[in-house]
Amino acid sequence: MVGKRMEKRPFSELGISDAILKAVDRLGFEEASPIQTAVIPVALQGGDVVGQSSTGSGKTAAFAIPAIERLDPARRVTQVLILCPTRELALQVAEETGKLAAFRRGVQVVPIYGGQSYDRQFRALAAGAQMVIGTPGRILDHLDRGTLVLDDLAMLILDEADRMLDMGFREDIERVLAAAPEGRQLFFFSATLPRPIRDLISRFAKNPSWIHIEAKALNAPQVDQVYYEVDRRSKLEILTRLIDLNDFRYGIIFCSTKVMVDDLDEHLHARGYATDRLHGDISQAQRNRVMAKFRKKGFEFLVATDVAARGLDVDDLEVVFNYDLPNDSEDYTHRIGRTGRAGRKGRAITFVSGREVYSLQAMIRHGGLKLRREKVPSLDQVEQARENAFFERVRAILDSRSFKANDRFIDRLLDQGYPSTDIASALIHLIQNGGLGQDAAEPEPGKAFFQPDPPAPETGTGSREAGPRPDSGKKKKASPEARRPRDPGDPVAKPAHQRPGRTGREKGYVTLCFNVGKRHGVRPADLVGKIAGVTRLPPVVVGAIDLHDRQSLVDVAAEQAGLIERKLAGVRVKGQVLKPFPAAPDPS
Ligand code: ADP
Ligand code: MG
Repeated sequence: MVGKRMEKRPFSELGISDAILKAVDRLGFEEASPIQTAVIPVALQGGDVVGQSSTGSGKTAAFAIPAIERLDPARRVTQVLILCPTRELALQVAEETGKLAAFRRGVQVVPIYGGQSYDRQFRALAAGAQMVIGTPGRILDHLDRGTLVLDDLAMLILDEADRMLDMGFREDIERVLAAAPEGRQLFFFSATLPRPIRDLISRFAKNPSWIHIEAKALNAPQVDQVYYEVDRRSKLEILTRLIDLNDFRYGIIFCSTKVMVDDLDEHLHARGYATDRLHGDISQAQRNRVMAKFRKKGFEFLVATDVAARGLDVDDLEVVFNYDLPNDSEDYTHRIGRTGRAGRKGRAITFVSGREVYSLQAMIRHGGLKLRREKVPSLDQVEQARENAFFERVRAILDSRSFKANDRFIDRLLDQGYPSTDIASALIHLIQNGGLGQDAAEPEPGKAFFQPDPPAPETGTGSREAGPRPDSGKKKKASPEARRPRDPGDPVAKPAHQRPGRTGREKGYVTLCFNVGKRHGVRPADLVGKIAGVTRLPPVVVGAIDLHDRQSLVDVAAEQAGLIERKLAGVRVKGQVLKPFPAAPDPS
């Protein structure tokens, strides 16, 4: 029994081949993590292994490296089988394994999972892939069909064994274990080892080495951990303050329930943050889409429950927010393990309200967590940060001279006796109050910074669908002010019922024509509800609605019009299939 080893070593001291050292180097791993340091030499000896360590500790390479080393590339038969709980994880493990095997000639890795065509899988298996990685259900299918044969299996690996059992794969796993030949090497990898897994281990493993890396290894100084005592009702406000103050652009926000996830996602989105969500009620297909998009940094903040985020392997989060307190110190450690990896400094921010502070203190004591208490930043501090960012942007534009001279316009004002500082202040006021629309504040080089006649607002620039920001990836970031909560003077922030009747369209709105009307029994509320429901935009994006007999004219926020038109096309209202299109512009 090997226990509680925490040390790391260079990969070169673990007895692995040059081919793997090269691959590891290519992956950018500088040294082996504690679980890798402990597992790899033992596994290379050929014995069974039980490896337990927290999420993000590097278990994949810990089992994949010895597996790649021990197989025989010259034999084109299945020699290694890795079982994973989900398709998502199977793909991740296959990807990392493929990279680790890149310099070992002749090694083929194939992922096998439900939902993919059998045909493609048959061909990959028939071609003699030595490493097969899949979900238990689909693997069994292939065993039953005889398209996967385990006669030459040398190594069977159960990744995330605890989760596979949670997901009801116990019988499937037992059948695969029973189908594997006697002499195979067996690995169990898991973040936790509950009773049913210990039972499986004692039934199937032969004198395994138990390697347990304490979660404390993660509690390293590379994650800066703080907590704030906040009033429950001000959580949202403080969350957005912290995001703006730190200019966070990539993180996960954990909530305790699905309802909280939905709520917070909507609120943040309404405030102009690019968010999406994951929880147990979201279909697997949708989950995969969200995860893939998040990994590509297609949006800023993922709002999620613990369970839904478990399979999500992202490693370069700037921040993890515990909007709601996790259940225990282990969940806490799982959550924050997704930031501060690969040598980068991460941030973990936890909110506690009321009596929760006692639960947190208990976690800190029993789980050995290291959190310090911080005071909630004041609005002044946030304002100061915004002002600084704005200042920097103006200065950058001045320094680069990337603006068109507006001498004629400014001369007119100067001629009328206004001092230049007042003119500048008035222009700043105009920008900060959204007087130019959001896009106008960020001029393209060579484009006039201020145009006396602002162009019609463009459509389809909603933040949610915006894709990667123009500046994403680079370190230079737009100021938080660009997405500050809209102020009350902005028409978009005004609820529909407070706006005047249809006396011509309001500024910032454009009109979409919908092919449904009174004759179809449609009421304004049906349209507002559909638009908000389908796009998940707040209902205030909808302005005045004119219902006619067979069609309706609906004013929508100009910057969301493209999105609304796209998303509503094909949706049914009162049995009618919608075909929205932009109404002809007002002659006014
Ligand atoms: P686990 O399965 O324990 O949750 P993973 O194997 O998925 O963890 O690894 C988490 C992340 O850390 C991955 O992005 C992986 O590429 C990276 N990683 C693994 N080993 C190392 C290492 N030795 N050095 C740096 N990064 C590593
Ligand atoms: Mg893993």
